[in-house]
Amino acid sequence: MIREFIGNTPLRHCDALSTRYHTNIFIKEEFHNPGMSAKDRPALFMIEDAIAKKKIKPGGIFVEASSGNTGLGITLIAKKLGYRAKIFVSQSCSTEKIDLLIKAGADIEICENSNGLHDFNSTQFRAQSFASTHPNAYFTNQYYNTQNIRAHYKTTGPEIWKQTEGSITHFIAGVGTGGTISGAGRFLKEQRPNIKIWGIEPNGSILGHFLKQRTLPNDTTAFDPIEGIGRNFIPGSFDAAYVDHIFQVNCHETKRMANEYYSQTGIMTGFSSAAVIAALDRYADKMGFSKTDIVVLFFPDHGDRYISKLYNEHIHRPTPLQTSRHFNF
Ligand code: PMP
Repeated sequence: MIREFIGNTPLRHCDALSTRYHTNIFIKEEFHNPGMSAKDRPALFMIEDAIAKKKIKPGGIFVEASSGNTGLGITLIAKKLGYRAKIFVSQSCSTEKIDLLIKAGADIEICENSNGLHDFNSTQFRAQSFASTHPNAYFTNQYYNTQNIRAHYKTTGPEIWKQTEGSITHFIAGVGTGGTISGAGRFLKEQRPNIKIWGIEPNGSILGHFLKQRTLPNDTTAFDPIEGIGRNFIPGSFDAAYVDHIFQVNCHETKRMANEYYSQTGIMTGFSSAAVIAALDRYADKMGFSKTDIVVLFFPDHGDRYISKLYNEHIHRPTPLQTSRHFNF
């Protein structure tokens, strides 16, 4: 069953980053999950919870609003358990992720934005209205479902604690719904209260502002398009109590770091993973790591689903070979 393959992902030491930032950097590689992202974890918890609480009957439709990864996790798990999946994705979703969703058997709809439940054209509003107007459909609603945080509290946090043998000093992850940082962050803080839990978001996203001031900024319109992270509303899955600080990076430096890291290491990071590296680069002085720190970076997915957005600049396909020959008999 697919369940057995979710979680227990590797944590690897990264020589290149450790040398560059004079500390010990480890990477939690979430692309080893079946849907090749961290979001399989909350997808499994949300689906199992809905089934256990009889919120959906066999053969029903799981509905989700997603930048792609949660949708893929929901679809793969739902299908395996005899359910269907209807996924509302924003038009900013990479073509690779859309192809993966279709291949997995999701029924997808592409929406204008993911601006939250108050916006008629958003993935969340449309997912909510679909679920409320179709019988036996259940909106898993990752932005407000407590199982999202719980999945990371029960699995991601404990795995990292065990893998670092309790020596982790910093946990750094991108913030989208907030589930990862809130769930893993809470578990890790309970083990070591002085651990640093840092989030990364794109320029213009409002979670960092909210964390510092506990108010919304006046302007909540646009944020840099780094797929999977950044919000212009405060999701219920974001629990500010376990986050120490949120750093902002821009899309341009993220793309640059993704390509730089790829040439240096041969590893293609996902978009939001590259944002974490970009944050190290920009804020290394402020972060002030020491030689003995144990820093864990959370990489939610892999770069192969962002070739068209992140890595396509130097790809020039050869023209088809000239195969026609003219024989004169
Ligand atoms: N990176 C990627 C690629 C994602 O798909 C997501 C989920 N939207 C995140 C980061 C953010 O994770 P979370 O929703 O747990 O904050």
